[in-house]
Amino acid sequence: MKQSKVFIPTMREVPAEAEALSHRLLLKAGLIKQSTSGIYSYLPLATRVLNNISNIVREEMESIDAVEILMPALQQAELWEESGRWGAYGPELMRLKDRNGREFALGPTHEEVVTSLVRDELKSYKRLPLTLFQIQSKYRDEKRPRFGLLRGREFIMKDAYSFHADEESLDATYQDMYNAYSKIFKRVGINARPVVADSGAIGGNHTHEFMALSEIGEDTIVYSNESDYAANIEKAEVIYHPSEKHTETAELSKIETPNVKTAQELADFLNRPLDEIVKTMIFKVDGEFIMIIIRGHHELNDVKLKAYFGTENVEMASQDEIVNLVGANPGSLGPIHNKEIKIYADNYVKDLNNLVIGANEDGYHYVNANVERDFNIDEYGDFRFILEGEMLSDGSGKAQFAEGIEVGQVFKLGTKYSEAMNATFLDNQGKAQPLIMGCYGIGISRTLSAIVEQNNDDNGIIWPKSVTPFDLHLITINPKKDDQRELGDQLYDQLNGQFDILYDDRKERAGVKFNDADLIGLPMRVVVGKRAEEGIVEVKQRLNGESEEIHVNDLENYLKDLYDNLK
Ligand code: ATP
Ligand code: MG
Repeated sequence: MKQSKVFIPTMREVPAEAEALSHRLLLKAGLIKQSTSGIYSYLPLATRVLNNISNIVREEMESIDAVEILMPALQQAELWEESGRWGAYGPELMRLKDRNGREFALGPTHEEVVTSLVRDELKSYKRLPLTLFQIQSKYRDEKRPRFGLLRGREFIMKDAYSFHADEESLDATYQDMYNAYSKIFKRVGINARPVVADSGAIGGNHTHEFMALSEIGEDTIVYSNESDYAANIEKAEVIYHPSEKHTETAELSKIETPNVKTAQELADFLNRPLDEIVKTMIFKVDGEFIMIIIRGHHELNDVKLKAYFGTENVEMASQDEIVNLVGANPGSLGPIHNKEIKIYADNYVKDLNNLVIGANEDGYHYVNANVERDFNIDEYGDFRFILEGEMLSDGSGKAQFAEGIEVGQVFKLGTKYSEAMNATFLDNQGKAQPLIMGCYGIGISRTLSAIVEQNNDDNGIIWPKSVTPFDLHLITINPKKDDQRELGDQLYDQLNGQFDILYDDRKERAGVKFNDADLIGLPMRVVVGKRAEEGIVEVKQRLNGESEEIHVNDLENYLKDLYDNLK
C-alpha cells in the first residue's frame, strides 16, 4: 500500500494520561484513536495486526476442532435472568432498553447466549463434545478504563465454549485449549506464562490465566525458581508453618490510643513491630456479618474469603453498619464483644499471644488480649496474600513475584449454566443430564497492546513478523528526484505480492520518514536514496538496526533470506 493513501496519523506528543508504554506507542504510531473513555477506533495498521492475531487464533482453534460462529452482541435480559446474572453481574453490565421498554445488555461475555443456542439442538450424547468460538466486540462498563486497549469498555475478545457428556471429555478439551493458548501467545510474539487462578464460588483448581509478563500488568504472579509453580497472587496458597510464641501471657488492659486508626499508626504509637499488631475487619457474607482478624503486616485477600465461604456475595461492611453493630468506627474494632458475630482469623494469628486489638470503643485498644481467655475464634483459615520470599505451597522454595497482563483464561464451568438454564442432553441410557461446559477467552485487542508492551525500543514498536501490519517498509528518500521515484515505483511493483509492502511515497523530509518508520516498526526496510541511479538501495532490519547496501538485482533473494530468518 502507498503510505500517501493510508491513514496513519502519527503523533509527536501523546497525552500525558497515556501511562502505559503500549498505549503511548499505539497512539504515537497512529494505530488507534480514542473515541471516548475506554473506547477506541482501530486505524488501518491496528486493523491489520488484529486480523493477523485473529487468524492465528482461528488456525489454532480449528486445529483442536473448535468451530467459528458469530453470536449477537445484543442480549435480552430474560437470558440473564435465567442464569441469575441479570442481578448478580453488577454495574459493569451495559444495560439498555428497546423502544418497547424491553431490557437488553451489550454482551460482556456469552455463556447465556451460547447455552440457550445449544440447549435446543444438542439433545444426544452422540453429538458431544462440541466446541464453538467467536471473535467479537465485548462491552464492560469498567470502573477504571485505562492503559488504552489493555482495559477498555469496548474490546475484542475470542471466546470459546465447549459442551461435554462427562468430565473426562471436558478435561481433554481443557488441555487442548491450554496447549493451543500456549502456542497462540508464542506465535504472536508474547512471552506469556500460564498461572493457576481463582475459580470463584465454584472452587477447586479449574482455571488458568495466561499472563504476559510486563511491569504495567495489573496482576501479580507468584512463581518459583525451582519448579513450574505459578499462580495468581489471589490464589497463591499460604501454608501455615507454626512458630514459637515468644512472650509469656500477660494481663489484659485497655489503653487510650487517641487518633490512631491504622495498624501502622498503632504500631508507631505503641512502639511495637507491625507484625505484633492485629487488624480486625467486618464483612458481610451473604448478608451476614462476620469479623475477621489478621496480623498487621499481612493483607486480607477477599478472593480467598469468597472461596472460603463459597460465595461471590462478600463485601466490607459500611461504616454505618459497623457503628450500628459494635458501637465503634473502623480503626478501633476488635474481637472482644458481646454480639453474635462469628470470628475468623488468619492462621498466622496463632503465632501471637498478648494481641493488641481494638476495644470496640473509638480511641481505645486492648493490649495483651489472648485467645480463649479473652475471646474465641470460630475458625482459622488462609485469608491473606502471600508475601514475597515466603514458602510456596508446593514446597519448591520461596515465592518470587512478577507483574503480568492477563491475555487469556481457560475455565472449567461444569454445569453452572446448563443447570440454571436447563440445558440437558440424553446420555447413553436415555437419561437427561445437564451439559458439562468449559469457557475459554482471549483478549484480542488486549493482546495487540501486550505485543507492543513486550516488543519495542526507544524509537518505537518492533513488530514480530507473525503479526506485523506490513512486512516491508519501502521508502524513497526524495520522490521529487526522478531516479529515486522511478526505482521506488519499480521495486514496489516487483516486490508487491511477495511481501506486504508499505510504500512511503510521501513528499516528506527524510528525517520525518525515518522517524515514522522506526515508530511504526515494520521488520524490514528498503531505502531508495542517493545511489538509486546505480541501482543500489539500503536494506535495514528494525530489530537490530543492521543495514546493508544491496544491488536491486540481488534484492529479491536477499529479502527472502532475511524474511525467513526474522523472529
Ligand atoms: P480482568 O481480570 O483483567 O478484568 P477478566 O478476568 O474479567 O479480566 P475474562 O472474563 O476472563 O476477563 O475475559 C477474557 C479475556 O478478555 C481476558 O483474559 C482479557 O484478555 C480480556 N479482557 C477482559 N476485560 C477486558 C477489558 N476491559 N479490556 C480489554 N480486554 C479485556
Ligand atoms: Mg479472566
